[in-house]
Order: sequence, then C-alpha cells, then structure tokens
Amino acid sequence: MRIGIIGGGIYGTAIAYFLQELGDVEVALFERQEIGGKSTSRSAGIVRHHYARQGHIKLAKRGREILENLETYVGQKGGFRQNGYLALTGEKNEELFHETIEKQKQIGLDVRLVEPSELGNYIPGIDSSGVTAAAFEREAGFADPYLVAQGFSKAAQESGADLRSRTEVTDIEIDRGVVTAVETTNGTEEVDFLVNAAGPWGAEVGQMVGLDIPLTWYESKAVVLSSTNPYDIETPTLSDSLQQMYVKPEPGGDFIVGGIDRPEIDRDVGLEGITIDYLNQVQKALKRRMSTHADAEVIESWSGIITATPDWYQIVGVPDGYENFYNIVGGSGHGFKEAPGFAESIAQEILGNEPNYDLSPYRLERYEEGELLSDLEMARKKND
Ligand SMILES: Cc1cc2nc3c(=O)[nH]c(=O)nc-3n(C[C@H](O)[C@H](O)[C@H](O)COP(=O)(O)OP(=O)(O)OC[C@H]3O[C@@H](n4cnc5c(N)ncnc54)[C@H](O)[C@@H]3O)c2cc1C
Repeated sequence: MRIGIIGGGIYGTAIAYFLQELGDVEVALFERQEIGGKSTSRSAGIVRHHYARQGHIKLAKRGREILENLETYVGQKGGFRQNGYLALTGEKNEELFHETIEKQKQIGLDVRLVEPSELGNYIPGIDSSGVTAAAFEREAGFADPYLVAQGFSKAAQESGADLRSRTEVTDIEIDRGVVTAVETTNGTEEVDFLVNAAGPWGAEVGQMVGLDIPLTWYESKAVVLSSTNPYDIETPTLSDSLQQMYVKPEPGGDFIVGGIDRPEIDRDVGLEGITIDYLNQVQKALKRRMSTHADAEVIESWSGIITATPDWYQIVGVPDGYENFYNIVGGSGHGFKEAPGFAESIAQEILGNEPNYDLSPYRLERYEEGELLSDLEMARKKND
C-alpha cells in the first residue's frame, strides 16, 4: 500500500515513522517547505498531562513516554527533560481543576496537590496571590520539537519512507470518496491512502477533496528572558491559569514566557509578532507572580500559528463519505506533546489494526452530532 502524507510537521513525521515501523507500506511524505519548519518549530515543547478529558490524558501520557524514550524508537534523543509542571488555579476554576487531577491519578500519574503556602518549595520566590489550588506533575517536562520531528523523519527515511521537502501538494484526485493521486509541484503521484497533516493549512487540503474542516487560527507568542536570578533548568514549568501565562526553563538559566494574549488572526494578513504592548504584559504578569525575575530582559522572541478546532481538540480519522482520506489536524496550541501518542494509534488504525487508544471521540462528525469534547469557554483557557 502506498500512503501519502501531506505535511512534515510533528504529526506528519511521527505518522510516517510509525507506519514504516508497523506495516509493510510505502510512505511518501510531501512537505511544502522544510521538515518541522512551521508550527512545530515554534512550539515551547512543554509536555504535561493536565487535560480535562481522561482519554486525552492517556494520549498525552503515551506521547510523553515516547518522547522520554525517543532514542529507543528513532536512535536519537529529543531533548526531553523531566523538570515537572506546577499548575495554579483560582477559585473560579477550582472544581474542574480537582476533577482533572483526580483523572490523572486514576491512570497512575504521579501528581499531587500543593498548598498555596508551599508553592515556594517548587519555584523559589513565587507569589501565591489569588491561587486557591495548585498541583505538581512530577513526570512532566519539555522536549525540543524540532529535534523530535527531525528524529522521526530521519528514522522513517532510514526505514524506507520517501520524504519530499519543497514539494507542495496543489490538488488531490478523488472519485466518489476514493483518493487516487495527489498533484504536487513536482508532478502527480498515485496513492492508495492519503493523510492530511497539513497543520494550519489542513482546511485548504480538506477543500481539495470537497470537505469543510472547521479551523480557526490564533497567534501564540513566546519570549525568552534572562534575569540576574537564573531559572534553574530543574525548576518546574509554571502554568499560571490566573494570568494565562506559562514560564518554562531554558538551558543556561534563561526562561520562556508565553500564553499571554493569543489573538485570533487572519492568515492572509499574517502574524502580528511581538509588540511593545505584549512585552509590557509579559513584564507585568511576571512581576506579579515572580518578582524575583522582575529585572528580566528579553533576549529572543517569536510567534507562531495555533490551529484551533471548535472545541480545541484535534480532528482525527476518515470522515463519513470518504474511503481513504484521513485527517489529523487542529493541535489547538497543545498538539506537540500528544503527537507521538496520536501518531502511533493513527498508524495502527490506518494499517487496519486495533489502535492502542480509542480515536473515535475525535471524529469530525462530532460537531454535527453535538458531541463536543469541551465547551469553548474552558477550551480557550488552554495555553501550552
Ligand atoms: C508559540 C507556540 C508555542 C507552542 N507551545 C506548545 C507547547 O509548549 N506544547 C505543545 O504540546 N504544543 C505547543 N504548541 C502547539 C504545537 O506547536 C502544534 O500543535 C504542533 O506543532 C502542530 O504540528 P502539525 O504537524 O500539525 O503542524 P506543522 O508543524 O505546522 O506542520 C504542518 C506542515 O504541513 C505543511 N503543509 C501545509 N500545506 C501543505 C501542502 N499543501 N503541501 C505540502 N505541505 C504542506 C506545512 O509547510 C507544515 O510544515 C505551540 C505552538 C506555538 C505556535
């Protein structure tokens, strides 16, 4: 079976790898630009399990296990560091917070509630104002998304996958729900099965087969700061939901701040980038929660596209009316960490095997059926 994959981000490369490993298939991956160069390379790489859906916690856990042991899969490390994750919440969201921690515990994750008065044991100098509940995930950490995508793509290639960078898919030949070929900037290629892993361009690829995929786009901004008081690499990543801010250590004592203000964007207009106003918001939020880093100076910054679905969870699977066209789109700002977990199950499903994890809740039809995976208000609060 010849399987085409559109998109060489973390999803496309990880699926290519698992398909080659698990099946007797020929994989051809088409990437318009460079492997891992779009949303994947912009990710802060935070790996945690703090999700409201238990099925999603399991996929995040599987993703983390693969990232943690990446070398045994692809022969190279993905920069994984287990620094832990400290999540804070306020009175308004406390009930959901406790339910989420319970769901994590039920599947055996090492997560514990932390009294606001004890936060300083995890992050020195932290201010607990407004915090009514907190939890520490010991197994969480972060990885290097670009390195991980590179690892999957190299291993897939070594197992026989044909990876074509600088090859854009411009159209898809389809007859009564059956995809037969893709048209690319380098010619037409016949395929028996096609995967749409085009990230922010997943809706355009859907249009090529007459399918509406409901995606919207937001700009996520990340700022690297350096202060006289280093943020040790072993210090947990902070998720401060009261300020929609995350703080993640970087090698050398620097740290990334992100998650604050993620405006919806018109992709034809493009990204706004890091503005003075955004930097002021970062400084203000940081000063409020970590006055010990109030003198921090910006040393680097970037922004990238978050591709969101209506309920901020991925859209996965072959839609009704199609035979061999598979979507995996809409990482919704948190898609890096779950990608290896999804990719393994997706490859199993494409190969006709029982997937390790049930992917049916992620079907596109859930929006018509009113089976949303979260309400919009809650979904918008996700920040990494
Ligand atoms: C600033 C920022 C911080 C983030 N931080 C985190 C985090 O800490 N943790 C986390 O889990 N997630 C995070 N994310 C989200 C994460 O980066 C994404 O969910 C994930 O990278 C999406 O991967 P992808 O493979 O779907 O998309 P992409 O990496 O964008 O890959 C899609 C690829 O498809 C290609 N393509 C599109 N159309 C075509 C075509 N017609 N033909 C050929 N190729 C095509 C594109 O060129 C692109 O390379 C963050 C995102 C941003 C922007």
